[in-house]
Amino acid sequence: MDPLAVRSRDHALALDAADPLRHFRDQFHFPVHPGKEGGKVIYFTGNSLGLQPKGVRAAVEQELSDWSQFGVEGHFKAKHPWYSYHERFSESLARIVCAQPSEVVAMNGLTVNLHLLMVSFYRPQGRRVKVLTEQRPFPSDTYAIASQIAFHGGDPEHDLVEMRPRSGEHTLRTADILSRIADLRDELALVLFGGVNFYTGQLFNMQAITEAAHRAGAMAGFDLAHAAGNVPLALHDWGVDMACWCSYKYLNSGPGGVAGAFVHERHHGPEVPRFAGWWGHDKVERFAMGSEFKPMASAEAWQLSNAPVLLMAPHRASLDLFDQAGMEALIVKGRSLSSFLWHTLEAVSASSGVGLEIITPSAPEERGCQLSVVVEGRGKEVHERLAAEGVVLDWREPNVLRLAPVPLYNSFEDIWRFGELLNGILAKV
Ligand SMILES: *Cc1c(COP(=O)(O)O)cnc(C)c1O
Repeated sequence: MDPLAVRSRDHALALDAADPLRHFRDQFHFPVHPGKEGGKVIYFTGNSLGLQPKGVRAAVEQELSDWSQFGVEGHFKAKHPWYSYHERFSESLARIVCAQPSEVVAMNGLTVNLHLLMVSFYRPQGRRVKVLTEQRPFPSDTYAIASQIAFHGGDPEHDLVEMRPRSGEHTLRTADILSRIADLRDELALVLFGGVNFYTGQLFNMQAITEAAHRAGAMAGFDLAHAAGNVPLALHDWGVDMACWCSYKYLNSGPGGVAGAFVHERHHGPEVPRFAGWWGHDKVERFAMGSEFKPMASAEAWQLSNAPVLLMAPHRASLDLFDQAGMEALIVKGRSLSSFLWHTLEAVSASSGVGLEIITPSAPEERGCQLSVVVEGRGKEVHERLAAEGVVLDWREPNVLRLAPVPLYNSFEDIWRFGELLNGILAKV
């Protein structure tokens, strides 16, 4: 891309005018930057907490009003009966991760789901005890995996294998991941990767990883916290055994929002070991209150408790927007935004003379919306100055700025404005 065009506001405005998803921006509340006469911030942290869709308030108020009007009878008389409330998510979630509706369920928090799924899919036996994971997984995942290993009497120091990139490289090569899986062979119980690594923004080849894990006789699971609603997924067709994600990042469903889980249909039989609760019981007989657990033949079998309706209402309002926009269009726009950001960073680096190293892979099939950038020696200072100018972005120790323009509510103009601010700041630091 021509560096002059990248730095031109008219060019950014033309890209926005041609964007078929541009109207979705008006469906979101933007924080206001106090220093900027009420101007909207430039929000690049949809990978951390997505903005609030305007439809959320009415969705929550509906449940509050049904509760006040019906009390317990809201389970059946509410506009969206609470008894089956969770079923309103299967179709939309299935579209986001490309699965059968019976393979997905909205429930709990992400780390809770990771544990519940590991109960079923991390079953160390004999020599087959190890879990292979990516470099620098999100800390919660490391704690979950290590505590599961210890729970089964293993030693996390030995049984949790974290892959490191080759020296001088920031991200993992698929070929290296596959050969590591093959090397571990019959010692490997589970391969558990992020779909997109939270730190580098690298999107892993989940299909190849799943196939390699299965060839080794291991299970394949993915934490899709940074992938759901961001990148193309085909969990069913890839044969992934299990996956989980949160809804408050790219899925814009609010802080601590209800998470999601996927279990491939080949694992829906009653013989699969799992922790059980009444909401996983066959729904036809759930209220017969029998003492013997008879699981649903679907991912719902992993549900423990009845649906947290007040937490789910924002999720439903947000997923309506995903249904309207469609994942394919979102992915196309997400790629255009992140490559426009990429070119903007290159142009700003060239004009300011300050090195900006993007550690996220450049190939579109190896990343989502997020770019992770190392600013020569001064990342923290640059972050603080950008924040003072109304750019909301994320700083991660030791030295990475994470920028995630997202297709539902970011514009090309946002990126252009960011580029101009960054250029001005780099001239001074
Ligand atoms: C955001 C994130 C989490 C957070 O876990 P919660 O249980 O939702 O608090 C865990 N793992 C990954 C990979 C994440 O990106």
